[in-house]
Amino acid sequence: MARRPMMAANWKMNKTIREAQQYTAALLPRAADAEDVDVAVFVPFTCLHEVARMAEDTEVIAGAQNFFYEDSGAFTGEVSVPMLQDAGAQAGIVGHSERREVFGEDDDMVARKAARAVEAGLLPVICVGETKEERDAGNMWEKVSGQVRRVMEELGEGGDVVFAYEPIWAIGTGETATPEDAQDAIGRIRELLEEIRDEGFAEGVRILYGGSVKPDNVGEIMAQEDVDGALVGGASLEVESFMQLVEAATETVPSDG
Ligand code: PEP
Repeated sequence: MARRPMMAANWKMNKTIREAQQYTAALLPRAADAEDVDVAVFVPFTCLHEVARMAEDTEVIAGAQNFFYEDSGAFTGEVSVPMLQDAGAQAGIVGHSERREVFGEDDDMVARKAARAVEAGLLPVICVGETKEERDAGNMWEKVSGQVRRVMEELGEGGDVVFAYEPIWAIGTGETATPEDAQDAIGRIRELLEEIRDEGFAEGVRILYGGSVKPDNVGEIMAQEDVDGALVGGASLEVESFMQLVEAATETVPSDG
């Protein structure tokens, strides 16, 4: 089954509203040419409403980098799914390793967030991945499969999700997993999804790779059979380098004729 690639920018804790406006204004006309690829930008809460407003009526997906699973209440500092949707978000990252490692989010919390997003119709991009120590100890699959299983348990029969395999040792380090490592992990995640749910779900779900994706390595990563796109931090902060990644993804889509 041909899955539609997704190239997703994760700005992390970067950009003022003014900078976000400039970026979005430059991105939109160029992204409009990438008809065969979903282009998403995951922006800080402070920029979200403005980016979503500018991207309205375009194919570019405006998303948040985090949210909480309750809708309202005494949760100081948190933002809920309905709040994100009110600001115009169509998607949200869940369980980024920086949330898990720096802010102590565990598998249960990540799973509950993913389930709340699906229930509300916000597309969750669910991040999984192992640390260097876990990989070196031969525990990559134990860690990653446990993260995926917990999310799937909470989702039940629930709908549209995207997974992102992001080995923690490759995020923001310049150290990319080899294309074979990316394919190995993502292929195994797809097999696990088939085992847990069914073949139709596993073949249809998009699984991205994330970890120091750059214009010079994106081609070989995107050439892997099970890799459906990339979640990109550093190289997404400038429109020019992000669009090079989007254009590389476009080239992997077979033409109709
Ligand atoms: C990320 O933010 O999810 C990421 C993969 O960052 P980088 O591309 O900078 O490694």
